[in-house]
Amino acid sequence: MPEFRLYNTLSRAVEPFAPIDGETVKLYTCGPTVYNPAHLGNFRTFLFEDLMRRVLRLRGWQVVQVMNLTDVDDKIIRRAAEQGKTIQQVTDPIVTIFHADRKYLRIEDAEHYPRATAYIPEMIALVERLIANGVAYLAEDGSVYFAIAKFPTYGRLSRLDTREIQSGARVAQDDYSKENAQDFALWKAAKPEDEACGAAWDSPWGRGRPGWHLECSAMAMALLGETLDLHAGGIDLVFPHHEDEIAQSEAASGKPFARCWCHGEFLLTDGAKMAKRVGNVQNVADLRANGVSGAAVRHFVFSTHYRKQLNLAGEALEGSMEAVRRVGDFADRLASAKGGTRALEDAADRLENEVRAALFDDLNAPNAMAALFEFIRAANKELDAGGTEPGPLSRAREVFRMVDAILDLVPERDRVDGGLAVWVEAQLSARAEARARRDFGTADEIRRALDEKGIVIEDTPGGTRWKQVR
Ligand code: AMP
Ligand code: ZN
Repeated sequence: MPEFRLYNTLSRAVEPFAPIDGETVKLYTCGPTVYNPAHLGNFRTFLFEDLMRRVLRLRGWQVVQVMNLTDVDDKIIRRAAEQGKTIQQVTDPIVTIFHADRKYLRIEDAEHYPRATAYIPEMIALVERLIANGVAYLAEDGSVYFAIAKFPTYGRLSRLDTREIQSGARVAQDDYSKENAQDFALWKAAKPEDEACGAAWDSPWGRGRPGWHLECSAMAMALLGETLDLHAGGIDLVFPHHEDEIAQSEAASGKPFARCWCHGEFLLTDGAKMAKRVGNVQNVADLRANGVSGAAVRHFVFSTHYRKQLNLAGEALEGSMEAVRRVGDFADRLASAKGGTRALEDAADRLENEVRAALFDDLNAPNAMAALFEFIRAANKELDAGGTEPGPLSRAREVFRMVDAILDLVPERDRVDGGLAVWVEAQLSARAEARARRDFGTADEIRRALDEKGIVIEDTPGGTRWKQVR
């Protein structure tokens, strides 16, 4: 088996990766801030993480993935104030939409989706530990800050220059730039607007709420332990979010927080970062309305390596819709084929090797997809040749299923389960027999039964072909 390698932002190099216990990968992925439906940029990151978890399993490991839902932060509180709602009234419907959208894109369920507001006691305990360790202090504004000067490796992940670090100065908002590398808020004293929308809790420092960075550290350590195998997110999270997660977690536990950090690049729209702020966002709802399937979005996202910027422009999605249609047609054809050739088997072997080599080499999805389309081309040619051997056909089905389990590109309407395929085949041979004995009544009945299940058949000189259309 080829070695599994990932680019680690900590070392800025592609390195061999394996979980520390050799069996289960503890994976933490920063989830959505649930004040607006996630846009396609967010989903590019979540799709890269979906690919990651599927490939880790292909490599033979188990995965325990945590994706948090940030349901209290500056932006949510602002939104609640604007709408005269509580934060929960803002976030509950967005969480529902998030899961529906993610299912549309076939993003597998993570093992845990903790909501930040359900982990307030763990967050308070973490702040207490940091104060006890002398790296956090209560300021005169009633908030607790992390003292970056007390954590000598601060800035290691984002390679901050010491000149950029302003110890003693403080920054209270959740998101800030490198020029503001200052003591950051772990726990924020409640303001009237926090109380008004239910974003304040009792703490040893009075009423207040957690900072965004603290939320992830507390949930990660509560659910996965003090050292994670892998921590992933979008590239914009390197600073300050992940830098601050490292500082808080390591200053509390004295252990490395994550062994490997992986960051996905941005999705752009016509050259600009897709962001709610910029107003150039597309949501899953927009795609659905335009008939773009989840499979097509996956094809579009996987056509570019996760560490390269991806631009959504022009006809890109149309091209992906056409590409997955081909995958779907091929899936149908493979399901209804009667046999194969040795060359089909060779093509399947090649596909398996190439897909593994590509995906184990820093999740190279574009190369894996190229191998898949090359296989489809070669296999179609072999199926045209009309092989009869069952061995090569089942090998081709097996490898295609393996690849489909990772990339997941067969459009929904063509998705065929094995049980249905067997049933359809049985109906088709009964129909052929009925026609042979000129029992057209029975043949028509069978055709109607197939039709009810959304199976369309086509009689060709080479036999009857079928397709599931709904
Ligand atoms: P947020 O909901 O803003 O906390 O973001 C959720 C995830 O989406 C984070 O991992 C971000 O890094 C990521 N993200 C935000 N904008 C983009 C974008 N345009 N392209 C790719 N990932 C993004
Ligand atoms: Zn996070």
